Amino acid sequence: MKTLNFQIVPLATEVADAARRAAKAGAADHAFITADSPTGYPCRHCLRWAKPGERMILFPYAAIPSGHPYSESGPIFVHEQPCERYAATGEYPLDFRSGRVFRAYNSQYDMIDAKPVNGGEPEAVIETLLQNPQAAFVDARSADRGCYTFRIERL
Ligand SMILES: [Zn+2]
Repeated sequence: MKTLNFQIVPLATEVADAARRAAKAGAADHAFITADSPTGYPCRHCLRWAKPGERMILFPYAAIPSGHPYSESGPIFVHEQPCERYAATGEYPLDFRSGRVFRAYNSQYDMIDAKPVNGGEPEAVIETLLQNPQAAFVDARSADRGCYTFRIERL
């Protein structure tokens, strides 16, 4: 397997656990959803598709924090039950090799570029974006709905 010069950064366990607590407490912006398709409910913590029948929590996550022109908060899923945070950070997650678009941001959180996978290798797209010295990190988002999936940082 090719060694990557970047690493995958899944959602922090603290964020997933806080969402689980908030959902249990009945927070209005946290919802319990039962997955009803094999590729509709990506867990941002274990970076796998939920299996049909698995319960998920849907909640808003600020991938780009407030206070910036590109600030953005949007809906993401995590498993309702504790799951193992994606650990193979040196490998691109198998479940998301297609259907992603990659956005490059500079250190001020300004979006400076974006490219879809378009049937190619996601690793190659990410490497191209990171060749720009201004790129501080790259976010993977769903190509159709635009939802944040995970972050990619330089090693
Ligand atoms: Zn999970």
